[in-house]
Amino acid sequence: MRAAPYDCLIIGGGPVGCLLTLALVRQGARVLLVDPQAAGARADDQRGLAMATASIRVLDALGICARLSGVMRPVDSILVADQGGPGVILLRAGDAGLDELGRVVPAGALQGALEAAVADLPGDLCDLRRGAQVTAVACEPASMRVEIEGPEGRAAVPARLVVLADGGRSPLRERFGFQIDSAPYAQAAVVCTLTPARHPGRRAIEVLTRSGPLAVLPAPEGRVTIVRCVASTDLSDALGQGDREWCAGLTALLGRRLGALAAPGPRQGYPIVQSLATPAWRGRLLLLGAALRTFHPNGAQGLNLSIRDIAALTEAVVAALHAGGDPGADLRLDAFTRERIVDQRITATLANTLWWTTSRDLPGAGLARAAGMAAINLCAPLKQRLVLRAAGLAGTLPRLLRGAPLPMLGPGPYGHAPQATSALPKQPA
Ligand SMILES: Cc1cc2nc3c(=O)[nH]c(=O)nc-3n(C[C@H](O)[C@H](O)[C@H](O)COP(=O)(O)OP(=O)(O)OC[C@H]3O[C@@H](n4cnc5c(N)ncnc54)[C@H](O)[C@@H]3O)c2cc1C
Repeated sequence: MRAAPYDCLIIGGGPVGCLLTLALVRQGARVLLVDPQAAGARADDQRGLAMATASIRVLDALGICARLSGVMRPVDSILVADQGGPGVILLRAGDAGLDELGRVVPAGALQGALEAAVADLPGDLCDLRRGAQVTAVACEPASMRVEIEGPEGRAAVPARLVVLADGGRSPLRERFGFQIDSAPYAQAAVVCTLTPARHPGRRAIEVLTRSGPLAVLPAPEGRVTIVRCVASTDLSDALGQGDREWCAGLTALLGRRLGALAAPGPRQGYPIVQSLATPAWRGRLLLLGAALRTFHPNGAQGLNLSIRDIAALTEAVVAALHAGGDPGADLRLDAFTRERIVDQRITATLANTLWWTTSRDLPGAGLARAAGMAAINLCAPLKQRLVLRAAGLAGTLPRLLRGAPLPMLGPGPYGHAPQATSALPKQPA
């Protein structure tokens, strides 16, 4: 461990912590990443994460797409159908002049690729502490003192900025003085992969059922990933059902869209919780990812939103270091938080509105939803905006998402300035 302060110390090596590490080190920043879990601990995560086009640009720029080329599946349209009424919406990438809305990446494979990419970073720029815990933090005038306990013993290290990206369940946030407001949606997600007789190709399907959305996402090897939301009280029943009963329940909701369903894989359950930590930063400690905010996965936006945050934070940290400034200074963290708050609130509000309008079984609700969906279908500019939002390309984008290079701090780990990456890498059909 080094005596000079790290530019950034990241607590939590999930997708958010790993991506921030990769983005900062790529520009030449010095980073320490701490996670109590061993590498590979999340390899069996069955979820298919829908990554928007803008997120894929970042994954590509950080060398992750190259590690995932065999398992990513493109999505060029989303069909949303209401089980409780006649409403249907079809959002096509072409409605906004795009080829794709994004790609689906198996969550376990994504985590594995991120962990491998972090492990490959040059040791003079990235210190990786797996199996370690942060036990205390103390804000000092020019840096934050962070105490770490792990297989190599105890150490206290200084860092100018500390990012808490330890997910939505870690107790560290409360211990470090943040307040958590949380409210359950009374729903849980059950995830599994299976093989349908009729594969939807590049189309994602979302059926709005009274117990929550049922999503179908393309997966490798002719399979699809199913994310079925159920009432929280029904989670253990849904996990305990026999395969035949489980598939019959899905067929009842999907109709004939996928034909016969075969070879369902293991099911995993995820409680769905809305949570917000406040304040978003204090001292030199900044919250990011699920540690900051969680909301319903109905729009597949949680990690996509965090990737936009990561791009903006990287830009802010690199600008501070490039100017010889302090990336953990109050003014910088305040400016970053203000810059990102609108996108964060809009994204969470859209997810909550979709949850609220689809989980109410009031008289005439199905017809009201059908009328709303018909209006969207008829209004091309609105449809275009929804498509751009699904692709992560709405609003003002941070430079990394536009494919624009950031200044390098020194020669950088790869010995050259990063290339602009506005085009997506080629993907097999
Ligand atoms: C069912 C479901 C489907 C989803 N689908 C999508 C989707 O399609 N698209 C999308 O964009 N988003 C999706 N999301 C949201 C996405 O999963 C989250 O936004 C994302 O996982 C958040 O990443 P994170 O790194 O912040 O947290 P996590 O993934 O929770 O990772 C936290 C990390 O912190 C570590 N940690 C825990 N405690 C400590 C500690 N004390 N010290 C240090 N480290 C610690 C953990 O080991 C872990 O590595 C979905 C969520 C759910 C539940």
